Amino acid sequence: MISINTTWIKEEAKRLGFFTCGVAKAEPVNEEVAKGYQKWLENGEEATMAYMSNYLEKRLDPRKLVPGVRSIISLALNYAPSQHLPKGEYQFAAYALGQDYHDLMKAKMRELANKIRESEPYLNASQENKEGQKEELEIRCFCDTAPVLERYWAQKAGLGWVGRNHQLIIPHAGSMFFLGEIFLPFDVDKYDEPMESRCGNCHRCIDACPTKAIIPNEGFHADQCLSYQLIENRGDLSEDAKAAMGDTIYGCDRCQTACPWNRFATPNTEPSLQPKAELLSMSKEAWHNLSIEDYRRLFKGSAVKRVKFEGLKRNIAATQHKENE
Ligand code: SF4
Ligand code: SF4
Repeated sequence: MISINTTWIKEEAKRLGFFTCGVAKAEPVNEEVAKGYQKWLENGEEATMAYMSNYLEKRLDPRKLVPGVRSIISLALNYAPSQHLPKGEYQFAAYALGQDYHDLMKAKMRELANKIRESEPYLNASQENKEGQKEELEIRCFCDTAPVLERYWAQKAGLGWVGRNHQLIIPHAGSMFFLGEIFLPFDVDKYDEPMESRCGNCHRCIDACPTKAIIPNEGFHADQCLSYQLIENRGDLSEDAKAAMGDTIYGCDRCQTACPWNRFATPNTEPSLQPKAELLSMSKEAWHNLSIEDYRRLFKGSAVKRVKFEGLKRNIAATQHKENE
């Protein structure tokens, strides 16, 4: 069986603009995490996000998702904002200020996968199936596109640890990172060690959560989370969400901005992640008068499209509703 040089993969990842990269052996997720995830589902904590309970076996064992996978490369791309929407105006979660990150992540991951495919050990690889026929080795890239526990794999690959706020925290860099995975059908020469949690006795994210969605004993009530309410919930906003949203009309960053590790965040320099001038100039009044044409123009190619025009109008109206009380 071939193996590939981990240091070379990491150098190529850095060259493509990824902040950090690590490699873990592809094996079933550990028992504690698997049980915790199953219990979370049994308690119905995924709320209306039914996709989180789909393909459970594959989610808990990557070899069932991609037969033949032997190594998982985890990649992190910085999205810490270099520009903010003006204070006093309506706010969006930082990850949604620029263009949809999925396209950017996939393009960069495909480039790395192609580099690996063109590499000498890979070209020399041959794999025979049970019938003795030569089979093509398959490299797959994922970014929110398959049942993969991305933060678990990132921690296992030594990128950081899953903090009490359920984000991946990268030491001395924070949590504002997009994550992606490349599944390799062969070994690497050196696997990374998982990183231990460095949350210690800290509970700032728990204190900062306006809806008490983060449970101190490591649990998480998705349906109470403002990010879920303002993006995933297709029905009416909960009364708690309306009371807690303040000026935020898409997502929520409070448990991230409260985290001391985000003091080390460095603004991203990726052109496609920068907010459009028109978004930066929007006033509250303009948001309340938002037309479908404005929405399409402002959010062309943006992750905000997930909430749809009606969802964003609902969020804006909920804020207005509070102002009128
Ligand atoms: S995103 Fe906001 S509402 Fe959700 S857990 Fe974090 S602080 Fe709480
Ligand atoms: S705020 Fe504190 S407890 Fe929460 S994720 Fe950051 S370090 Fe961990």
